[in-house]
Amino acid sequence: MENNSLIILAESLQLIFDNLNSFGYQTIAPTISENTIVYDQITKISDLPIGYIDEQTGGHYRLKKHSKPTFFSYTVGANSWKKYLHPPKVRLWQIKRKAKAMEFVSEETQPPKLAFIGVRGCELAAISIQDRVFLKDKFVDPIYSTRRKDIFIVAINCARAVKTCFCTSMQTGPKVEEGFDLSLTEILDDKKHIFLVKVATEKGREILKNIPYKVATKEDENIAENIIKTTAQSIEKKLDTENIKELLYQNYENPSWDEVANRCLSCANCTMVCPTCFCTTVQDTTDLTGEIAERWRSWDSCFTSDFSYIHGGSVRVSTKSRYRQWLVHKLGAWLDQFGTSGCVGCGRCITWCPVGIDITEQVKTLRENNG
Ligand code: SF4
Ligand code: SF4
Repeated sequence: MENNSLIILAESLQLIFDNLNSFGYQTIAPTISENTIVYDQITKISDLPIGYIDEQTGGHYRLKKHSKPTFFSYTVGANSWKKYLHPPKVRLWQIKRKAKAMEFVSEETQPPKLAFIGVRGCELAAISIQDRVFLKDKFVDPIYSTRRKDIFIVAINCARAVKTCFCTSMQTGPKVEEGFDLSLTEILDDKKHIFLVKVATEKGREILKNIPYKVATKEDENIAENIIKTTAQSIEKKLDTENIKELLYQNYENPSWDEVANRCLSCANCTMVCPTCFCTTVQDTTDLTGEIAERWRSWDSCFTSDFSYIHGGSVRVSTKSRYRQWLVHKLGAWLDQFGTSGCVGCGRCITWCPVGIDITEQVKTLRENNG
């Protein structure tokens, strides 16, 4: 296996699942639940959303049957890989009363080895942003770090985009560039259904052992590149990132914040579906007998009034201040804090906003009212 680009038959994806399982990985991949794409543990390729495509616009999501039996023609759903690396709810500790002493119960230290299958370019970028936040700052998050260390990633080049995608503006997709062990491009025509596989790591090479393959030709490579190019060209949504930090910092009093605040429900959906948002809160609980006390960490959102509560009240009392905080942090302050934007252009916050507020439109409106 000298060349890093190989061709395997589409059905050989099952052998990749089997090999990963035999190496002790739980295979997590897209599947369908409640008429949406979710990420869940599956072991059979027949559980992939074969032959489905999605339709997404502001506040709108529909999964539909498609004429071709492709494995990966849909894009991203409300779930992101964040739920596995930075779980929505984790118990930090538990204490049990034992006579007059206390027994401290330690928490899970060895999470399962996970293989993520079907990770998109924007999602690889989101994982890399959370790596920066949780692993490469002053403090390392032990929960994220333990979960992250053994992850195996099979990435997929997008062969289709939806109306909410703007990865091309954020330089995160549709091509997967780095941060994976294997990448796939799905090719289906009248004669064949195959994957062009790129091997990026030794671990990736190991997983392909015993899987029948042929070395990709220049023509195969060109076909795969054209698929990605066509997807990129189909992306209509744009976010103009030029001097965006300055634009946001100079426009705290821009009238467009009032306009968006009139529509925003402060429901926090946008932060829950965002693959990079990382804020959490901590709650202590006791059971009714007073025998057990626990501390839990769960996802929180800058859209809740409690999130900015300090003694005496909340700092951000209005929806306007909360929406402005989110956008200015995500697209501006994040650059100062972490050296990268907090947005990867996945479009989830647009689709899952019940009133269809669109982050790209908000930036456009700010620019129009700038000054
Ligand atoms: S802000 Fe919206 S488009 Fe950007 S990464 Fe988060 S969910 Fe995706
Ligand atoms: S922008 Fe949309 S999703 Fe976000 S809090 Fe407001 S209404 Fe909810």
